[in-house]
Amino acid sequence: MYLHFPWCRKRCPYCDFAVETGDPPHAEYLAAILRELDARADAFPGELVSIYLGGGTPSLWEPDCIAEAIAAIRRRYGAAPREVTIEANPTDCTPAILGAWRAAGVTRVSIGIQSHDPAALIVLGRDHRFGDGTAAVRAALDAGLVVSTDFILGTPTGTVTTPAIDGERTLAGNAAAVLDGAVHHMSVYELTIEERTAFGQRVRDGRLTPLSEDTLADLYVATHERLTAAGYEHYEISSYARPGYRAVHNSLYWRGCAFLGLGVGAASLQLLPDGSGRRATNPRRAVEYLAAPGTPAEVVEETPAELAAERAWLGLRTLEGVAMADLAPAAGVAEWGISEGLLVQVGGRITPTLRGFLFADRIASRIVQDWGGSR
Ligand code: SF4
Repeated sequence: MYLHFPWCRKRCPYCDFAVETGDPPHAEYLAAILRELDARADAFPGELVSIYLGGGTPSLWEPDCIAEAIAAIRRRYGAAPREVTIEANPTDCTPAILGAWRAAGVTRVSIGIQSHDPAALIVLGRDHRFGDGTAAVRAALDAGLVVSTDFILGTPTGTVTTPAIDGERTLAGNAAAVLDGAVHHMSVYELTIEERTAFGQRVRDGRLTPLSEDTLADLYVATHERLTAAGYEHYEISSYARPGYRAVHNSLYWRGCAFLGLGVGAASLQLLPDGSGRRATNPRRAVEYLAAPGTPAEVVEETPAELAAERAWLGLRTLEGVAMADLAPAAGVAEWGISEGLLVQVGGRITPTLRGFLFADRIASRIVQDWGGSR
């Protein structure tokens, strides 16, 4: 179950999500979520494994509303999920709020630290400052929650003529502030500059120079080396975990499981008895969603072959890889990937190398292109 809260205090200059600013209508949004749950849960039978509250900034939602939403979902499915995650801004992670989330059934918090470099935080337009991230991590650990931290790798912090990067400081910050802080999980995303964002405009105006692909790749490899040396398992392109702390929720997506997404812009995947799938996406504007919760803006049907191809390329973005038999409709991909140093065979499975993580998009396009001629 995915639950989306689209409101943010302000829009970050690199973000192209459909976010809402201004005062969130806390109670009205809760009522809409509950109506949508009532309207759609029957089409998503089965075990409730995980709830993920993402955004936007779900840590802005009143804790009582969060508690009521989680309670309603648990009542509807008659069991407690294995994992309940909330994404949080560091400054929202006060002991009182963390305690309220814990009491509501939240088990895991994903804190958007983004960088330990003060200059990078300013460029990224974040409303937290150096030190807020580590304070949030400590408070969340003290509250007894599993802690994941998000980082953005490769923020250009210099000028056009003397570009500087946050890489070393972020990595050093990780080592000092996070590794000894017993963080359970880390997600490290490369900064991508989307055209429609303020960063996109700065690049067009010549005020911001993105890092080169080679520099980003060097940072990616350095991050991998530092975090794996510190005992983290690099189990998905952007994800690192201490043993036993892989993200349950995201792992379900990567395995192609069904999920129900509630709220503004949320996506769902329904798996139908004939092996096909139905993807539905909710309206991206709160005003449209609130007018008719439970009515998707877009529905796309997927054939069994399309779903299988997607499961294959998603699987090859993870350390587990895929069973050779599951790659059979694109049999040439394994041979090609192994010869390019992107993939390896381990027993009956094909798994990605570090280079395969770096070039995952090439692997995915090759799979889609070759998939049994059935698309
Ligand atoms: S807090 Fe996250 S979702 Fe909100 S504007 Fe910033 S990057 Fe986008």
